Amino acid sequence: MASSSSSFDTIVIGSGPGGYVAAIRAAQLGQKVAVVEKASIGGRCLNVACIPAKAVLRAADIVQEVRDAGEFGIIVSEPTIDYAAISDRRAKVVKTLTGGVGGLFKKNAVEYIEGEAKLAGDGKVVVGDTTYEAKNIILATGSTKRPIPGASFGGRVIGTEEAWALKELPKTLTVVGAGASGAEIASAYARLGTQVLLFEALDRVLPTEDADISKLAERGLKKQGMQIFTKTFVENVQTGDDSVTFTYGGEQGETEWLVIAAGRGPDVEALGLAAAGVEIDERGLIKVDGALRTTAKGIWAIGDLVPGPALAHKASDEGIIAVEDAHGLETHPISYIDIPRATFCTPNVASFGLTEEQARAAGHDVVVGKVQYGAVGAGTVYGDRQGLIKVIGDKKYGELLGAHIIGAKSTELIQELVNVKALEGGYPEVARMVHGHPTLSEGVMEAARAADGWLIHG
Ligand SMILES: Cc1cc2nc3c(=O)[nH]c(=O)nc-3n(C[C@H](O)[C@H](O)[C@H](O)COP(=O)(O)OP(=O)(O)OC[C@H]3O[C@@H](n4cnc5c(N)ncnc54)[C@H](O)[C@@H]3O)c2cc1C
Repeated sequence: MASSSSSFDTIVIGSGPGGYVAAIRAAQLGQKVAVVEKASIGGRCLNVACIPAKAVLRAADIVQEVRDAGEFGIIVSEPTIDYAAISDRRAKVVKTLTGGVGGLFKKNAVEYIEGEAKLAGDGKVVVGDTTYEAKNIILATGSTKRPIPGASFGGRVIGTEEAWALKELPKTLTVVGAGASGAEIASAYARLGTQVLLFEALDRVLPTEDADISKLAERGLKKQGMQIFTKTFVENVQTGDDSVTFTYGGEQGETEWLVIAAGRGPDVEALGLAAAGVEIDERGLIKVDGALRTTAKGIWAIGDLVPGPALAHKASDEGIIAVEDAHGLETHPISYIDIPRATFCTPNVASFGLTEEQARAAGHDVVVGKVQYGAVGAGTVYGDRQGLIKVIGDKKYGELLGAHIIGAKSTELIQELVNVKALEGGYPEVARMVHGHPTLSEGVMEAARAADGWLIHG
């Protein structure tokens, strides 16, 4: 709890993937570091968002594998879902990982201060009755759920974090927003046996992904038994004791829980930003430069608080840059478009860079290499022939502009292309790198070959 000393080189506010990584990096650089956290160590990512979500999704994936086992010659009866055991495992996974962060803090002599932090100017941070001082302050307080117009949270209208922690497996669930979070929730619960309705105001699921990928994602999600409504607004949301009623496209709906997965906003209210001279932009995000410096000297901001994709690994990377900059090291701005994006619904979706549409709109001399997983041996061996790998390039220098993958392990496969791009390689290089056999990554190589005009398997 209270610090043995109240003066630090760096105080990090928030212990999520942005804050805890920043703190450890600062400690590695020999600094005296404290982290202030108002809720649980590990932030939202480890406690209520990314990690619990993936733990439940893993259970849903196993159910699906069991159901599909007949295709592999394994005869099993319909699996029974022990939702309480799934929830217990989810809690255990969270405990293991958050305990790991606690261990890392100890190992790196990072002081953990429980409480809500407020900036008090001149390098001061107030937590309860104690005022701490630091040369550098890193803001890493993350984001909170936001409602949709005409609906507010409360009763049985919940956010994504609550959706992953439901005490009982619902019979019916309605998800508003078919972005990454909404698609993951729908995909998990539908396979666990819940009747799911998934709504999206735009014209397709995963609307920020490449259009080809959205199409396949919708097909895959529908196979899981859910109903999907695109270009449809959910309105007149009314929560009762046991259910929520709503309207959509002239129809009346009723559901046990209604999950709003349609956006988040920065958690800055308690920080006292204005008094400390930290400016925000028109979306309420903290204004930063390429080194994550805010408009106030000695204060950096990272993660969901600042522009760029709201992703855990983006927050961590920014934490490292902010700390190194504060330490006087040379840093480089992040290329935000090249950060890998992943959605862990089934089929898995992963991408980086520009979509085909964006690449064309930007005036590139676009080349597209597309390969189904079935084109390489691994797709057939492992039972996913429908997956798709789409590489977008610019013909002039063979530049990799983006890649979009849907199917098993796409969230792992994307990294190769991200790395090649980071090392200034292009699709012609990927096409000529030796890939192990039989692996799905051979499909990545083949998609690069397709872009380069010499697809072997197809
Ligand atoms: C359901 C869900 C699933 C997701 N899945 C993924 C995924 O699979 N992969 C991915 O990359 N991203 C995922 N995300 C996004 C990811 O969770 C965020 O991008 C990430 O958590 C941001 O990290 P952060 O460090 O900025 O903040 P957070 O993880 O939000 O942590 C911020 C911490 O700051 C604390 N805090 C806030 N204000 C104060 C204060 N004044 N004083 C002290 N402490 C304070 C909060 O309690 C919190 O613990 C998901 C998000 C959601 C909602």
